[in-house]
Amino acid sequence: MADKQYKQLGCLDVDASAGCGFQVRAETEAELMQLVATHAKQCHKLDSIPQEMVAKVKAAIKTVPVAV
Ligand SMILES: [Zn+2]
Repeated sequence: MADKQYKQLGCLDVDASAGCGFQVRAETEAELMQLVATHAKQCHKLDSIPQEMVAKVKAAIKTVPVAV
């Protein structure tokens, strides 16, 4: 068993007032951004993520060790 580094992001990390408990983990930042974009579209009616939010999202991404 080894720990793997995963990128993690929660909606609350980006906007605490959103009241959305969505949390996502992915192996790469690109993968994570895709999952976030899909979620933003489905749950927050954002067809695309505004540039300033992309910056917020990237700043809020945490790297967490996950046992695999
Ligand atoms: Zn959300």
